Amino acid sequence: MATEQTSYTVLARKWRPQRFADVVGQEHVTVTLQNALAQQRVGQGYLFIGTRGVGKTTVARILAKALNCVSSSAPVTEPCDRCEMCVAIREGTCLDVMEIDGASNRGIEEIRRLRDAVAIAPVSARYKIYIIDEVHMLTKEAFNALLKTLEEPPPHVKFFMATTEAHRVPATILSRVQKFELRRMQWNTLLTYLQRIADTEKVAIESGALATIARAGNGSVRDALSVFDQVLALAEDRVTEEQVTALLGWTDREIYAELHGALVAQSVEGALGCVQRVIERGRDAEQFVLGLLQFLRNVLIARTVSGAEEVIEEPPEFVKVIKAAAQDYTPEQLLYAIDVLLELLPRMASTEAKQTSLELAVLKLMYARRRVGIDEIFARLEALEGGGGGGGAQLSGTAGLRTAEPRPVYQAAVKPAVPDVAEALAAPVKRVAAGTSDAAGAAAGVSPAAPGVVAAPEGTQSLEEVWRALLVQTEASDPKLNAMLSHVTATFPDAHTLVLTAAADDALTHNALKRKTSVAKLTQQVSALAGRAVTVEITQAAAEVKAKRVRSKEELIEEARQTPIVKAALELFGGEITDVIED
Ligand SMILES: [Zn+2]
Repeated sequence: MATEQTSYTVLARKWRPQRFADVVGQEHVTVTLQNALAQQRVGQGYLFIGTRGVGKTTVARILAKALNCVSSSAPVTEPCDRCEMCVAIREGTCLDVMEIDGASNRGIEEIRRLRDAVAIAPVSARYKIYIIDEVHMLTKEAFNALLKTLEEPPPHVKFFMATTEAHRVPATILSRVQKFELRRMQWNTLLTYLQRIADTEKVAIESGALATIARAGNGSVRDALSVFDQVLALAEDRVTEEQVTALLGWTDREIYAELHGALVAQSVEGALGCVQRVIERGRDAEQFVLGLLQFLRNVLIARTVSGAEEVIEEPPEFVKVIKAAAQDYTPEQLLYAIDVLLELLPRMASTEAKQTSLELAVLKLMYARRRVGIDEIFARLEALEGGGGGGGAQLSGTAGLRTAEPRPVYQAAVKPAVPDVAEALAAPVKRVAAGTSDAAGAAAGVSPAAPGVVAAPEGTQSLEEVWRALLVQTEASDPKLNAMLSHVTATFPDAHTLVLTAAADDALTHNALKRKTSVAKLTQQVSALAGRAVTVEITQAAAEVKAKRVRSKEELIEEARQTPIVKAALELFGGEITDVIED
């Protein structure tokens, strides 16, 4: 390396594809163009669309060479890259192939001059070719002038345009050109490409370092190669991942932002992909969790403290990311997520299955976003205080307190457009509806139904189906009721009885559901859904109710303090528990 430095050519230039075969990851464009060349049906106007550094002008130049290559008496499907014409186009000295930067030649004068020049036959090449980069930057007048040329171009003229922003190109232009969309290069395609370059250039580089460079490219070959160049300039013998990460100024924080993005999008694949990458890159899983904790802590600060910039020790760009992320969570969702990770840490130290436990924790974080807000709990508390009558009005009256949209547990049931989540959510529904019916039935003092006995009368829905329908229905119509229902276990002793059993320690849900209005509402809804009279019974798991009665006040306070939601409330608002009223 050191000996070659005097004649060093930047990789982006050295590795710029000169033939269609060299273009990586854009086969959908190059193959189509080669077919057009083979059939001698190359159009007069092309527009290459794509983000920066994906090879738009590179493809345009190769096409220019293929049209003008003199290795044959007619255009070729692959330029020779050796003949005088190919060389001249490659070196930018061919008088008939002109590259215009739309950003700096955007006025009408330039386009008029171009229009006049268009009429003149090419000097030495078969075709006079204009490559206009960043064409969306042209002024409206310039576009109009260009349009006149595009409407009736002389047969020897071709326009190849490139843009990152096709929506800024007038429709009149778009309709007169053939459009090709170049893709951002996939991370692994880019990685393979970089590996090939490293091998050819005989660069000793860790695979993790190459992977990081590929990620830094963010879909752009040019950007990736530019990072690669910087790395090579600094590295001595073997390029390490650490060097690359340091050069990029990364402490891997991008992965947290990316994971957050996947959680918000409820993309199981994306979230697990982040974990996979951390593991693949040989990163310490515990360090990753610690970093994620730090990230969530910062998000919580951004969510709850004004002037968070001073408290968060991250570069300003990343603080922006954190502040944006803060809008996606309620404080209690964040506290829950932090709890999940704190619980995970000690377990990771002892487990061999680090990846699995990390993946499970990440899935829990995904569910954290669907947890009901503390205002939900307040609403339920208020409903309890209100006693029997008028509870419904109070529930809806507190809706204004809600800071975030309701996140009912069965959200995906009515949004099948997100299949992975729908699938993930289907499981708990099933489990509640069928799996635990025996145990819960016994606990509720109801004789467990034998499998199959649950079957509904002919021609009507089984109560299990009705229960699922009720969950979906209330999700939209009555999120508060839905939240309560998601806290109970449903059992179906016979086709006319639905038993809802609250957990032994969940008196809140038990009492709220047991109110006359709730029971009446449920009975009506369930009967309507079933198409027959159904009795709804509300019970609470019996075994622990007894135990509860003998507990001291101190024990009750301690228990309340350990309840996650109370914990969160105490941390958020301060204060202490003075008494616990048992009912
Ligand atoms: Zn040639």
